Amino acid sequence: MRILRTVADVRAHVAAARAAGRSVGLVPTMGAFHDGHLALMAAARERCDEVVVSLFVNPAQFGEAADLEAYPRSEAADAVVAEAAGVDAIFAPSAAEMYPDGFATTVLVGALGEVLEGAERGAGHFAGVCTVVCKLFAIVAPDVAFFGQKDAQQVVVVRRMARDLNLPVEIATVPTVREPDGLAMSSRNGRLDPADRERATALHAGLEAARAALLADPRDPRAAEAAGAAAMRAAGVAPEYLAIVDPDTLEPVGTGAERVLVVVAARIGPARLIDNLPLDLEPVATP
Ligand code: AMP
Repeated sequence: MRILRTVADVRAHVAAARAAGRSVGLVPTMGAFHDGHLALMAAARERCDEVVVSLFVNPAQFGEAADLEAYPRSEAADAVVAEAAGVDAIFAPSAAEMYPDGFATTVLVGALGEVLEGAERGAGHFAGVCTVVCKLFAIVAPDVAFFGQKDAQQVVVVRRMARDLNLPVEIATVPTVREPDGLAMSSRNGRLDPADRERATALHAGLEAARAALLADPRDPRAAEAAGAAAMRAAGVAPEYLAIVDPDTLEPVGTGAERVLVVVAARIGPARLIDNLPLDLEPVATP
């Protein structure tokens, strides 16, 4: 497995793969690999001949300097894990390689980036995500890029960007990988002390409570949101939001939606965690 630091080295590596007729898959990450990242690498390994994993803690998508500072970094261990997963190359650039002096361009997605995570973290978050993902697409030029359902809004936003800008890449989504007790795997889980780790299961419990309420009465998504939030509060966690939204527009759904996304975010001790549940509902019978 190659570890590449510069845009020029990645371009040369990918050009050689292409010249050999190989398809190229990209897995964008911020490192500190867990089984969620491994699921993305496995999906890329299965679909594509050449698998490139990018590892870059992107300063542009962090609102709080302390959060950026505290983000776990473990490149040497990550490289061992990626190699065992059959990855062909890691692209781990410096911040200066990605954002050289004079860097001035930002990719903005509009309203999709302003709700939910965009509202909580600031619209700059998805501007940072889109700008770096757009750059990675331009640098690696993958046939397929792999993203986790865990970051559902990120998938929606990146899909929209790729469509709007006619980027020649297929966006593939990989289901959320969870701990046995339901907690979605995240590099941020490592910051939780044992008591917070226990309380963190409230996110999944809230999603499940909202799902049960919505299946019981699909006509009342607001009541299902309230049931989900109540389940979280019963577990000692106040949600930042728990919302039932359209999976494409991220707008709150009304009665009669057949595909919905239940999304949740909460602060647990030092970590801010997110999770979601895509749901298919039976059509509501009209009287
Ligand atoms: P990150 O390194 O946290 O930026 O994540 C890199 C990629 O891994 C993103 O596409 C995430 O959505 C995905 N990912 C993170 N956690 C999980 C998980 N628990 N299950 C599936 N994918 C995940």
